[in-house]
Order: sequence, then structure tokens, then C-alpha cells
Amino acid sequence: MKYTIVALRALKDNYIWLIHDDKNAIVVDPTEAHVVEKYLQQHNLALKLILLTHNHADHTGGVKVLYERYNPECIDNFSQQLADGQILKLTDLDLSIKVLLTPGHTLEHVCYLVDNKHLFCGDTLFGMGCGRVFTNDFVAMYSSLSKIKALPESTLCYPAHEYTANNLRFITSLDSNHAYYQDYAKYLLMKLSSTQNSLPTVLADELRYNLFLRCDDPHVWAMVSAKSGELINDEESCFVALRQLRNKF
Ligand SMILES: [Zn+2]
Repeated sequence: MKYTIVALRALKDNYIWLIHDDKNAIVVDPTEAHVVEKYLQQHNLALKLILLTHNHADHTGGVKVLYERYNPECIDNFSQQLADGQILKLTDLDLSIKVLLTPGHTLEHVCYLVDNKHLFCGDTLFGMGCGRVFTNDFVAMYSSLSKIKALPESTLCYPAHEYTANNLRFITSLDSNHAYYQDYAKYLLMKLSSTQNSLPTVLADELRYNLFLRCDDPHVWAMVSAKSGELINDEESCFVALRQLRNKF
């Protein structure tokens, strides 16, 4: 199936991702119904499916109105129970959607991998960052991020918020000698100033530059030790300390 993926901006910094084949559409985390409706009407699309990554109001706000108006199928892991690796069976839409259970931000958080290429990762992975661990289960969050790390490097990641600029400021505050990602940071900031949109991001870049995916790197341990005052010498404590530094930033 040939399809297009569109970024719709909502609220202050949310993304609603919309996938369509010029006829049928899927939306991920439709926080504001009117934003989705406007696009559907302008492009004469039928909404067939809503995918929800988790049950936070800034992701689900538009569901009720869209459901009443278009009667799409709705998939989530808080009113339903999905299984890790489950392939969703869809009517009308010829693409494959695989569920990845990714607890940590919330207990029921899931990511959706479309055609083994496009990862809709909600509030688990952000451009140059990761989501807050509201469950306090840092081990679960770290293993969810490790699941994403294990995907092919060419995977395109579609987070639900535009936090890249803030995340870059955070990384710079830890690492004054940030020569290794200067060019990438420049590229991101240029993209943001011209389009206000740094996403999707390629997993290969996140693996190289996103510190939350580099907690197995002793250079990152040293950086986090220096900033937090804790002696870090394993990947999980590195992740916990890094996320706590980000919370305070
Ligand atoms: Zn959330």
C-alpha cells in the first residue's frame, strides 16, 4: 500500500500523526478532533482507525468526537489488552501494524510499528530524549527503550511531542565538549527554525546522539557522574540518574 504520513500539530507541542492512502486514514493520539477533521475534510479522507499509545488527556482528547462522527476502529492497551509483538488485523487498510509493549511512562504504554519501518512511539522516545517515568519503574522504561534500540537503524521514529530543542539544551548542559554532535544539533535547530518540526527522527541518529539510548557507554557514565555527583558504573543507574537530571532541568 502506498501511503503518506502527515504531521498535524496540536496543543502547544503535540503531534497527531496521520497516515493516509488518499482514501482512508489512520490517526495516532488525536488530542484535538478539529485538527484531524479539518485535514480529513480538506483531503476527502475516511477515518478508519485510531491508535492510542497511552491514556493521557493530551493524547486522547479528540477520540470521543472523532469516534461519534466517523465510527473508526479504536486500538489501545488500557481499555483493551494488547500483546507484545501482536500484529493488528485491519479491515480496509493494507498495512501491517505491530504492537510493542513499552511500559514506563505509563504502565499500559505501547508503540506501534507500521510496516516494520515507521515507529509511533508516543511518550516513550523523543528526539534527543525520552519520556518521564510516571510509573517510577525505571527498569521497565529502560527495557522499553532497549526494545526500540533493537529495531533496524533505518526505523523512522514519530514521537508525540516536539521536545527536541529543549532536549538539546539539556544535553549541552551536561556535555560542554559536545563536538561529536555539533553538526547534528545545528541541522536539527535549522530544521526547527524553518519548519517548526524536527520529526520524524531516524533511529540511527538517536542511537548515535540521544544520551538516553547511550546509557551503556562509559563516556556517558562519566558525564552523568560529574553532573549528578553519583558514581555511575552500570547502564541502569546511568539511565535513572540521567532521567532524574532531566526532570530537574
Ligand atoms: Zn503522556
